[in-house]
Amino acid sequence: MIVRDFIFWLSTKKNVTDAIARRGIKHGFALRFIAGEQLEDAIRACLELNGESRRISLNHLGENVTTVEGATGVKDGYVAMLRELDRNKIDGNISVKLTQLGLDVKPGGRELCQRLTEEILAAASELRRDIEMDMEGSPYTDVTLDIFEAVRRRRENAAMAIQAYLYRTEKDLERLAPLHPKIRLVKGAYREPKSIAFQRKQDVDANYCRLLDKLLDGRFITAIATHDLAMLDHARKRIAERSVKQDQYEFQMIFGIRRDLQQEIRAQGHPLRIYVPYGTEWCPYFMRRLSERPANCWFVLKNLMVETFGSNGKK
Ligand SMILES: Cc1cc2nc3c(=O)[nH]c(=O)nc-3n(C[C@H](O)[C@H](O)[C@H](O)COP(=O)(O)OP(=O)(O)OC[C@H]3O[C@@H](n4cnc5c(N)ncnc54)[C@H](O)[C@@H]3O)c2cc1C
Repeated sequence: MIVRDFIFWLSTKKNVTDAIARRGIKHGFALRFIAGEQLEDAIRACLELNGESRRISLNHLGENVTTVEGATGVKDGYVAMLRELDRNKIDGNISVKLTQLGLDVKPGGRELCQRLTEEILAAASELRRDIEMDMEGSPYTDVTLDIFEAVRRRRENAAMAIQAYLYRTEKDLERLAPLHPKIRLVKGAYREPKSIAFQRKQDVDANYCRLLDKLLDGRFITAIATHDLAMLDHARKRIAERSVKQDQYEFQMIFGIRRDLQQEIRAQGHPLRIYVPYGTEWCPYFMRRLSERPANCWFVLKNLMVETFGSNGKK
């Protein structure tokens, strides 16, 4: 836990993330978790995944945009991405973070964000595609739910993520149930205090299973987003017991993580979607993936050592 917290803390230090960002693409280690820096790289990755019968959810990396122009540019970028998905006949949708769409703009961030989200939803709807709203750190939980609820009333093509580590999530699901939405269940990727979130893996896992049982009770479309074998087993068991139809659920995993499990899920005939992030603003996302599995740090260190000392270990 200490190592995780330390890596997570580092991810908030701009001089550290800048130093990593300068080297990550050049030396290849960032490409372990991101599909590239340009949209064309991401489209190539999506086509490859579709070729392996995996749907995709494309995300343009970035968060905490603080200007109206910046957020509007992000919105235009997402609309262009939707058109590119369509032009390339890709089986997939897009994932967005609300802080990318101006939630932090002062004043009027909430209204701006909701308007831009609605514009993306309208463009997606014309192309018969949907969008998934990522869930960010706890300062954004309430406003993300509020915006989701507001847009979902008008547009059926909006889905959202919720986090099993938060105590409040079961109540939030009850609030959302009347909308019959698609919900992506994740464990949660941010550091949250014990006043609001489970801290121990076994408690998060138990809540994940409890929430999954609720999600699979017929009122939601469920995206089971995890690489945890125990969670996957629980989900597969419930799906079989309740004969959940394939249009009512899917598994979701992250680009570059547990490709063995991705293959297993597909081989068993379950629908699977891969979250495909791309873009130049990859460092905070990359650091969150490192903090989830400190062993990942070794391959970064290895790359930096090779850069510093050469592949034979000498400078
Ligand atoms: C499709 C998708 C969308 C997501 N969207 C959000 C979101 O909107 N908001 C949010 O807070 N979180 C999101 N997450 C991240 C999530 O909250 C977890 O942080 C992340 O998925 C790791 O948890 P886990 O369920 O895989 O279980 P864990 O218990 O963390 O891991 C289980 C096993 O998975 C493998 N694994 C997990 N992570 C890694 C890694 N980084 N590198 C290598 N192996 C790994 C390991 O084998 C590990 O033992 C998303 C995750 C997925 C799969």
